[in-house]
Amino acid sequence: MIPGVDVDSIVYLNGEYLRLADAKVSVLDRGFIFGDGIYDVVPAYSGRPFRMDDHLSRLERSLDSINISVDMNRSDWETLVAEMLHRSGLSDCMVYIQVTRGVAKREHAFPKNSTPTVFCMVAPFSRPTEEERNQGLSAVAIPDIRWLRCNIKSVSLLGNVLAKQAAVDAGVNEVVQFRDGYLTEGASSNVWIAKSGILLAPPRDNLILEGIRFGLIEELALQSGVQLQSRQIAEYEVATADEIMITSATREILPVTIYNGKPVGDGRPGEVYSKLREGYDNAIKNLEQA
Ligand code: PMP
Repeated sequence: MIPGVDVDSIVYLNGEYLRLADAKVSVLDRGFIFGDGIYDVVPAYSGRPFRMDDHLSRLERSLDSINISVDMNRSDWETLVAEMLHRSGLSDCMVYIQVTRGVAKREHAFPKNSTPTVFCMVAPFSRPTEEERNQGLSAVAIPDIRWLRCNIKSVSLLGNVLAKQAAVDAGVNEVVQFRDGYLTEGASSNVWIAKSGILLAPPRDNLILEGIRFGLIEELALQSGVQLQSRQIAEYEVATADEIMITSATREILPVTIYNGKPVGDGRPGEVYSKLREGYDNAIKNLEQA
């Protein structure tokens, strides 16, 4: 029994489809020993993957960036996602894919001949509630203490785990991290602000994970006539923003209406958020009707 987990659900491990309870990985797996692996999460609506190409491109980029070579091409990944969605029978869900460098004697440097471990599971997810959309979330600022390769979607998530726990300890929904006085991202989301109707995002560099929503929000901003600028954003600009928003696969786009205990703007979700939210909802509707 693992609370909140269906141990009878079907997972994929190294070429086999198994019950979650029967899927086992060696204690010498480098994912377990060193956090030496990467992952990605593909959201699906009504059983259809959303922006899967972008997610699989990022998965391949993450693999390349840490020199893991897996015997799977793009169409193999697509088949895996489709098969997992089919076998799960779930509607709104997320497909989690993880690849580690595999099992080897414990030595830091890359082993010569390890076979990567490929794991995939599917879990249901609930779209943001009316309350979250209408009332918004709360967040606090914290220093970003993570490493300098945050652009890799690594399973070494200790920095993000500590950041999310800081949010829980502060009784808020998310943290907003700053490095050297400039905005990076949330514990598990990208952060955006709006000032005088202009949407601002931090640069897509090694200090943040470039969410798949970056490309999507860019498209939605263009469609709805919102000007978007990507540049360094100072801490005071976040504190004095008209709007703060977060994006992620599971939270889609949500407004932050309380920041460091104070209302953001007039304390209600703003206009830029409303336009992007409408575009997001339409993109999902289109996917479901396609
Ligand atoms: N940054 C971090 C640290 C994250 O964990 C996530 C969620 N995967 C994101 C940003 C948002 O990425 P995406 O839009 O692809 O979910």
